[in-house]
Amino acid sequence: VTTQLNDDVRVVPLSTVRDGQTMTYNLSLVLDPTHGPTLVDTGLPGQLELIDAAMAEAGLRVADLRRIVLTHQDIDHVGSLHDLVAASGARVLAHEVEAPFIDGTELPRFKRPQMLDRVPAAIRPVLEGVPPTPVDERLADGARLDVAGGVRVVFTPGHTVGHACLYLERTRTIIAGDALTAADGRLSGPSPTATEDMATASRSVARLAELDVDAIVCYHGGVVRDDAGGQLRRVAEELRPPD
Ligand SMILES: [Zn+2]
Repeated sequence: VTTQLNDDVRVVPLSTVRDGQTMTYNLSLVLDPTHGPTLVDTGLPGQLELIDAAMAEAGLRVADLRRIVLTHQDIDHVGSLHDLVAASGARVLAHEVEAPFIDGTELPRFKRPQMLDRVPAAIRPVLEGVPPTPVDERLADGARLDVAGGVRVVFTPGHTVGHACLYLERTRTIIAGDALTAADGRLSGPSPTATEDMATASRSVARLAELDVDAIVCYHGGVVRDDAGGQLRRVAEELRPPD
């Protein structure tokens, strides 16, 4: 069931069960009646139908998508990208540092041998079979997308080298990808086990904490709305290295 966070953002949780554990990914749909809907991140491979059903709650179809922004290269973010683009013709946007890992110029980390060796044998061909997808627009830090009153790209490396968040100016909402996590409305830093470079990731959180924030959508953990700005400053302080 999707949630209308504010006038501009609808949060689309996709749940899958793996080893008896339910995993939920929180995609974001940025709505704009003039410029059309934008999807942020795309779930796992094979989740197009789920995304289509979720979009129907907003009176939309996958075919209506005009652009897809990827926060980063990981499998649970790019999984259904190829299918969604085929079904919609949406433009694909990602930060310029991350784009080569999405368009196949560089090996994404889910296809690195040391990652493939760690997954169950049945999952391996699924990961290997994820096709790269061309990136139509390479975003730089501070780039502004002309949707939903203005959406700014905030370069937040650390979880991966080219991770980026989105900041919606009108609703003061951060779409955080994996730069932050949450549980039951309480904000935390990025997952230490899944983050490539915690020191860099911590500096990225400090950058986010400079923004004027009313709401944060974490891909893992969902929405943080209660004193979002205060919670973000607390997390940034907790991650700050001792002088
Ligand atoms: Zn990730």
